[in-house]
Amino acid sequence: MTAYEIISKKRDGQHLSSEEINFFINGYTQNQIPDYQMAALLMAIFLQGMNKRESQALTNSYIHSGKVLNLDHIPGIKVDKHSTGGVGDKVSIILAPIVAAAGVYVPMISGRGLGHSGGTLDKLESIPGFCVNYTAKQFIKKLEKNGVCLIGQTSELAPADKKIYALRDVTATVQSIPLIGASIMSKKIAEGIDALVLDVKTGAGAFMTDHKKSLKLAKTLIRIGEEAGKTTVAYITDMNTPLGNTVGNWIEIVECIECLQNNGPKDLMELTHRLSGTMIYLGQKADSIKAGVNLSKELIKNGKAWDKFLTIVQEQGGETTYLSNPDQYPASKFSVDYLSPKDGWIDSINAYDVGMSAVLLGAGRRKSTDKIDNTAGLRFYYKPGMLVKKGDPLVTLYTSKKKTLDIAMKKVAAAISIGPNKKSTYQLIHQFLDKSGL
Ligand code: URA
Repeated sequence: MTAYEIISKKRDGQHLSSEEINFFINGYTQNQIPDYQMAALLMAIFLQGMNKRESQALTNSYIHSGKVLNLDHIPGIKVDKHSTGGVGDKVSIILAPIVAAAGVYVPMISGRGLGHSGGTLDKLESIPGFCVNYTAKQFIKKLEKNGVCLIGQTSELAPADKKIYALRDVTATVQSIPLIGASIMSKKIAEGIDALVLDVKTGAGAFMTDHKKSLKLAKTLIRIGEEAGKTTVAYITDMNTPLGNTVGNWIEIVECIECLQNNGPKDLMELTHRLSGTMIYLGQKADSIKAGVNLSKELIKNGKAWDKFLTIVQEQGGETTYLSNPDQYPASKFSVDYLSPKDGWIDSINAYDVGMSAVLLGAGRRKSTDKIDNTAGLRFYYKPGMLVKKGDPLVTLYTSKKKTLDIAMKKVAAAISIGPNKKSTYQLIHQFLDKSGL
């Protein structure tokens, strides 16, 4: 068996055996297959797809590239959440402390930015000192102590995803159901959860832009989770418009602080409470999703979620002074407002264009060696359905790279459409699915 033959087979639309998939994934994880051959196979999978058997074999291969944690000694149902990727999606950072404050253990392995979409790990690392790289032993210890720990894939846990994820980020091979399925579910199964809540995004800024494909992705993820013995449910939610008012890394952490201090934007809080309420219900700390949502709201109002967030940051080596005083964080070198070119109603804000603009500003990577600019990003002042006047600042763009401002600004201008009439406002949460269907 050679890497060349396996690439050729998939390129020509044939099915790969489990042995061929294991050979490739293990070879790549152990540095025996180079990036250029993995990139070629990824593109072949992207273009030709995989059937159910191949997709399951790919996921198993990712899972067994590292350890699978057993958390049976920790009491109760361990629950996590994962989003399929979006723009301004900072929900995990708000939800993890809420759910842990409700008494549900949350082991969480997250990802970095992928293509135009932001990543929880990059956002957390914008907090000076915050560490997302722990051994499996340290991860379990922190989970036992605080009820929650947020890390990335490591050389022990989902190492195949760690390497392949970084390659997909820069080779335009993200938008593939088998690749997303293996990536997400390997991390989640390796971390030792009992139950999982998925936020499957749909729309311009999602990896699955149309609803049919998002539904197919949700069903695939649920099937993989349930076959591994994990209770798995999914929401299909809107990603036409960026979530909340900020896109970037530190700027999103500041918005998370506002949310945890009961001052978050409506869309972001609605989605956070629904997802955290569902986790609290699956973790058996509430009798229904509705009761879980109410408890989630209570934990924000009484400050317990905020206290838990400070504990997480402290425990994972982050400096909490910036959380209490975000104004002391170093400012970006350059900032500029994009002003409304006319009077009218905001029709739409294209999340994909906004995500690409954030990458250009320095908030994401264009090649794997790029360093993230923590202070780069965008702050929006309007949502679809709001009235604006010519000259109103619609967005502020932040960056350390002055020469990218012009092109990032052009992308933002193209992203925002303004019309003469108010269109109906968008629906944030479309559908809920479990193993029995919609
Ligand atoms: N999130 C992941 O962890 N992997 C993907 O491929 C997409 C979103």
